[in-house]
Amino acid sequence: MIPGARLVLLGRQGSGKGTQCVRLSRHFVVPHISTGDMLRAAVREGTELGKMAKAIIDAGGLVGDDIMVGLVSERLTEDDARVRGYILDGFPRTVSQAESLDKATASRPLDLAIDLVVPEEVVLERISSRRVCAKCGAIYSVAAPPSTEWVCDKCGGEVQQRADDTPESIAKRLAAYTLETQPTIDFYSASGLLVGVDGLGTPDEIFARLLGAIDAQL
Ligand code: AMP
Repeated sequence: MIPGARLVLLGRQGSGKGTQCVRLSRHFVVPHISTGDMLRAAVREGTELGKMAKAIIDAGGLVGDDIMVGLVSERLTEDDARVRGYILDGFPRTVSQAESLDKATASRPLDLAIDLVVPEEVVLERISSRRVCAKCGAIYSVAAPPSTEWVCDKCGGEVQQRADDTPESIAKRLAAYTLETQPTIDFYSASGLLVGVDGLGTPDEIFARLLGAIDAQL
């Protein structure tokens, strides 16, 4: 039987994290916990969190650490994550979030933090052609659309450009990545938990590299 895993996947917006997290989640039979997906679901459902987060997300800013830490800590107490582990996508994004995650997982620490490395010029190109299902979050692109005119192959939802994939918001998010998330990568490097994986290539090639890196650690 495949063992569970407790993983963090770091990487720039558009590095292919989301796609690879779905695959890793199936492989290790652990929940894929994407804070971006959680926030977008809250926006769709019109919850208090969603109302507060919408303007921040659309402008490419970061939602406050306390809110994000609360959201993730609560999710990690659910049975699936407690029993098998998890793969975190989009969290932690700041050193403060990483420190809080360390505390919240002290009894069962992370196995590995992976930095999926893709140069900025490549992610810019990928984000502008990215399209996502508004209902289930499945990821497509202009070059690889769903089989029927922007109707999601998986759930029949509408496939569209993300509201925050505008040039202004993308620029702001990439700047926030350098400012806030690069130090988070350094934090994991200093604690000996970080491995860098080349994010260029086909999805199959990248997945094989990720599995190699994780298997070497587990
Ligand atoms: P993502 O889908 O990971 O690119 O997240 C979309 C947006 O949600 C980000 O641009 C932020 O506005 C917000 N967000 C997601 N995760 C976090 C986080 N860990 N901390 C702060 N804001 C977040």
